[in-house]
Amino acid sequence: MLTIVPPPRRSIIDQNKRLLPFNELFKKKRIALLKAAYYYLKNLNKYKKILARSGFKNITSLEELSKDFLTWSEKNGTSALIPLFTMFITDFGYGNLEQIPTIAIMKYIGAKPLIAIIFLTFGINMFGKWPRVFQQGYENLWYKISQNLHVILTAKVTKIERKNDRIYVIYHDQVISYDKLIIACPLDRVSEFLDVTAQEKNLFNKIKYVNYVVTVCEIDNMPNGIFYFGRVNTGYPLILSKLWQNPVCTVHSMSDGQGDLLLEERIKTESEKIFSAKFRKIIAQEKWDYFPHFDQKDITSGCYDQLENFQGKQNTYYVGSLLSFETVEHVVTYSKALVENYF
Ligand SMILES: Cc1cc2nc3c(=O)[nH]c(=O)nc-3n(C[C@H](O)[C@H](O)[C@H](O)COP(=O)(O)OP(=O)(O)OC[C@H]3O[C@@H](n4cnc5c(N)ncnc54)[C@H](O)[C@@H]3O)c2cc1C
Repeated sequence: MLTIVPPPRRSIIDQNKRLLPFNELFKKKRIALLKAAYYYLKNLNKYKKILARSGFKNITSLEELSKDFLTWSEKNGTSALIPLFTMFITDFGYGNLEQIPTIAIMKYIGAKPLIAIIFLTFGINMFGKWPRVFQQGYENLWYKISQNLHVILTAKVTKIERKNDRIYVIYHDQVISYDKLIIACPLDRVSEFLDVTAQEKNLFNKIKYVNYVVTVCEIDNMPNGIFYFGRVNTGYPLILSKLWQNPVCTVHSMSDGQGDLLLEERIKTESEKIFSAKFRKIIAQEKWDYFPHFDQKDITSGCYDQLENFQGKQNTYYVGSLLSFETVEHVVTYSKALVENYF
């Protein structure tokens, strides 16, 4: 059973590899931060109806909110939030702020999280027992949810055809006919089995990802806490967390695209230099095609609207983080709204 040792302290590693309490770095910037937070909150309020909707429908008509956060910030007086948002957005796998549309950031960092982040810069932890873990494992949650549903596991779907107002799914040499199809896997992979139209294929080919890497390793003598490196170089650790009473640590980074061969060495050097800790070994390393999204140019040309217009065509529906945002809550909320809307 996993239990996190009391709320981990957050620290920042500065450019000279010194470990600073989280609030220290923002000491001289608090007035600017408070001002920026005020403008951000004002905008959250201004757009609250749009933000409350699930997904990104009509984002093209909201030119202001489809702008990347850096550009939007310059115009809206929120630039002081950028170093903070880099730690809570970029470091958590959501890409550089010059790539992410402002509406996605606003959906992710609403009023409550913003206030909690600002309080952190004053040394006050409002996150409570965050991060929280599922005591019996995250997978167990889905196992329990699925218990009363008819779920077929390990079915290798080789083909899906949509014809005569029906859906024909072929797997393990059998054909099953269904009324509706809900696709919940990466949309740029569906052409491997689905009879995609040219329009669908063209749209799905535009999906971009962030190459996010999570490394689980053992490091002896590491203090407990969440440590932000305060930089966003690919192939380097961005965050190092140690949450449990054992030597297991997790390191978040962005892939260098060349196998991340130096990552282990860098984790070792950094942990020894900064914490005088002893790196033992890597337990697991996983590279994720993380945070599927469309880029600025494609958003402006109407990709999200096009995707939303696909919903229901040929009895097919799409769910997943591309349509909402890369958190479980956003995906579940979007899926629930889709079912309520169309079924
Ligand atoms: C390391 C990590 C930590 C995270 N921590 C959090 C967190 O603390 N809180 C939070 O809210 N979110 C967290 N997330 C994000 C969260 O997991 C995702 O936002 C969410 O799972 C996205 O749901 P989805 O349905 O879009 O995609 P997924 O959950 O990825 O589901 C896609 C499914 O498609 C399947 N698939 C892939 N390719 C194919 C194919 N070719 N054919 C058929 N099936 C295929 C996959 O096996 C998978 O089951 C984390 C993600 C990662 C990677």
